[in-house]
Amino acid sequence: MEAPLIDPFQRPVNYLRVSVTDRCDFRCSYCMSEDMTFLPKRQLLTLEELDTVSSAFIGLGVRKLRVTGGEPLVRRGIMTYFEAMARHLESGALQELTLTTNGSQLHRFAPDLAALGMRRVNISLDTLNETKFAEITRWGRLPNVIRGIDAAQAAGLRVKINAVALKGFNEDELFDMVEWCASRDMDLTFIEVMPMGDMGEEDRLSQYWPLKELRARLAERYSLIDLAESTGGPARYVRLDETGQKVGFITPLTHNFCESCNRVRLTCTGELYMCLGQEDRADLRPSLREPTAPPLEDAIRAAIARKPKGHDFDYSRQEIGGQMPRHMSHTGG
Ligand code: SAM
Ligand code: SF4
Repeated sequence: MEAPLIDPFQRPVNYLRVSVTDRCDFRCSYCMSEDMTFLPKRQLLTLEELDTVSSAFIGLGVRKLRVTGGEPLVRRGIMTYFEAMARHLESGALQELTLTTNGSQLHRFAPDLAALGMRRVNISLDTLNETKFAEITRWGRLPNVIRGIDAAQAAGLRVKINAVALKGFNEDELFDMVEWCASRDMDLTFIEVMPMGDMGEEDRLSQYWPLKELRARLAERYSLIDLAESTGGPARYVRLDETGQKVGFITPLTHNFCESCNRVRLTCTGELYMCLGQEDRADLRPSLREPTAPPLEDAIRAAIARKPKGHDFDYSRQEIGGQMPRHMSHTGG
């Protein structure tokens, strides 16, 4: 194997998140505006190009690959890409192939995903109330997501629920969600809302429910046991002694995770973001499409050599600092 990818701060890069589309069948209010303009399809990497870039990363030591978007399961022909990645699972080059999805289409895909070697999926769900679900996702329907979760579990996929913590929206459902996940043997991770994209009328600061507060409220009812495990990502985990389930906290606005960051993100247009919270990126498309451009492996190595130390998000002075103009659906959450 070639020398693995190590960034300037001696962090190994072995985790790739791939956004396979910027499109979605939902319009979650913290993620997209109602009238999103999506990229023309010709700007997207083809499924073959996605395979080429992902395989190059795997050749350079990437061991974990998470497919995201937009909503990955609305990309036409996406199973072709999953099947292509499954060959790396079979060879042992790739240890884990996972998916982050809104769950709306999952009932159609879960059996095939499990059959090709996927073990776990993350499903985003912010409320268990049908009316509130329709409100926050604008276009989503809760029963479709529940059907997707049922199908995933029936296929043997381990499900983790991701919920964005939103002040005044799902604060009152904290314990309901914890108990519902426990009853279905699902882990649960809360995400602090991040300043991504221009949300139109939504006021990001008023939505911000610090996970410190959420955690304190959780501790009023449960005994929280800190878990040392780290995914090299922004999540910290506790185990609830009473239910045995794992609860995660993704606090991207604190700097507690940059030191161990092991990941980079590929957009659906072939740009590589070395940090979710920075604008610097490397366009890998020329290496795929132009004969005179540097070989793909060289372009990837040059990009990793520019991976920054950390991000600049900051809510601390009651103003949104380090705000990113791009939407989460572009870089892939
Ligand atoms: N459509 C898929 C889904 O919803 O799971 C995958 C893409 S979505 C961008 C990935 C994750 O990012 C979701 O869990 C979503 O809740 C989260 N997300 C989107 N916008 C966010 C924001 N502004 N702050 C925090 N999390 C956000
Ligand atoms: Fe779509 Fe996921 Fe963004 Fe919601 S969070 S609009 S489901 S990409």
